[in-house]
Amino acid sequence: MSKKIQAIRGMNDILPSQSPVWQYLEGTVAELLAAYGYGEIRMPIVEPTNLFKRSIGEVTDIVEKEMYTFDDRNGDSLTLRPEGTAGCVRACEEHGLLYNQTQRVWYTGPMFRYERPQKGRYRQFYQIGVETFGIATPDIDAEVILLTARLWQQLGLSDSVTLQLNSLGSNEARAHYRQALVDYLTANKELLDEDSLRRLDSNPLRVLDSKNPAMQEMLAGAPSLFDYLDDDSREHFEQLRRILDAAGVQYEINPRLVRGLDYYCKTVFEWVTDELGAQGTVCAGGRYDGLVEQLGGKATPAVGFAMGVERLILLLESLQRVPAEVYQAVDVYVCAVGDNTDIAAMLLSDHVRNEQNWLRVQTHCGGGSFKSQMKKADKSGARFALLLGEDEVAQQLVSVKDLRGELEQVQMPQQNVAAWLAQYIN
Ligand code: ATP
Ligand code: MG
Repeated sequence: MSKKIQAIRGMNDILPSQSPVWQYLEGTVAELLAAYGYGEIRMPIVEPTNLFKRSIGEVTDIVEKEMYTFDDRNGDSLTLRPEGTAGCVRACEEHGLLYNQTQRVWYTGPMFRYERPQKGRYRQFYQIGVETFGIATPDIDAEVILLTARLWQQLGLSDSVTLQLNSLGSNEARAHYRQALVDYLTANKELLDEDSLRRLDSNPLRVLDSKNPAMQEMLAGAPSLFDYLDDDSREHFEQLRRILDAAGVQYEINPRLVRGLDYYCKTVFEWVTDELGAQGTVCAGGRYDGLVEQLGGKATPAVGFAMGVERLILLLESLQRVPAEVYQAVDVYVCAVGDNTDIAAMLLSDHVRNEQNWLRVQTHCGGGSFKSQMKKADKSGARFALLLGEDEVAQQLVSVKDLRGELEQVQMPQQNVAAWLAQYIN
């Protein structure tokens, strides 16, 4: 026998037993975003490598060591998208969606990063992303934060996530800060790890983003970006805070929150949880006013965020916040025992689907004894089993059994059963 081929490390199958939770989450988000007037956009999974180098930044974890990059048969360098913002900007720009107008869009799909796989960190993972374009005022920063807060509420996660907020200021403010930070880090050079030493010259802000526990104490003493903010960024941040306060959304200001990508300015935020160990950020984003221009478009203010779908699902499951009915795939299971009853079962199943098109009806296939069919009915999770024997078929009747044990078994004309079931299943 030849050796079995297995999935690539860090790339997961999502099985039928798991996908109901995915659909529940994705469905909840889709409805929520529709309620805010956001439109869905779908981009390719593969983009030119330069798109990511130019947007995310050359000196970032993603571009330095996490991208799946390859040459296609034509010799062009392509990359499996590590995130969605760059592709979304490219697509909107390419199709003229950013020209003298505002846009609010969202997307979902797989992203790819060559990271060390562990709980909540994979090489193919899914994000739900939201991007807005053309609005420079802090009301839109507030809107994208408020809509995530509403999502946590709908998912029952409000008590398990906290909002961290910071402002990165303007490019000029960051340049001033950069010098102060470099001075501080240089004075503490002996405490820097290899990555950080390299970044001291190329991208010192990124050092603040380090997850190395040995550096945390030293980093806690670093000068605060907050003290270097320009007036415009400060007022922008204050107005954002006023809206969040008025809406009753709580937050912590974290002056060391800088985010792992180069393109952010002004507002940055993360929603974090204590429930998932080191992989605690479930949603992250901010303002990136410079990116559209950086990618060759006309200067366009923008705000967005991305949620990690696997992390949210881990959170929903570990806190048992998924409603029980989400896991239920079938409402009614149709069994048939006796000569030619299988045909009647097929027709009855379709009759029920025709009459009550939201009922989920599974027809038993493959024959077998009454007892074995009832076992399958029970395992299907259905609330009711419909039973057809030769007598029932001859008289156009059906017996209905409550598999969850509340009602007596009843017999009724087949034509009544759909309406009868609909009374009990919602
Ligand atoms: P982290 O600090 O955990 O590496 P990040 O800053 O690299 O996250 P972003 O690029 O901001 O992450 O992506 C947004 C969200 O996508 C993250 O907050 C997280 O929920 C999720 N995410 C990022 N990388 C992964 C991954 N490798 N596996 C699963 N989810 C991920
Ligand atoms: Mg990362």
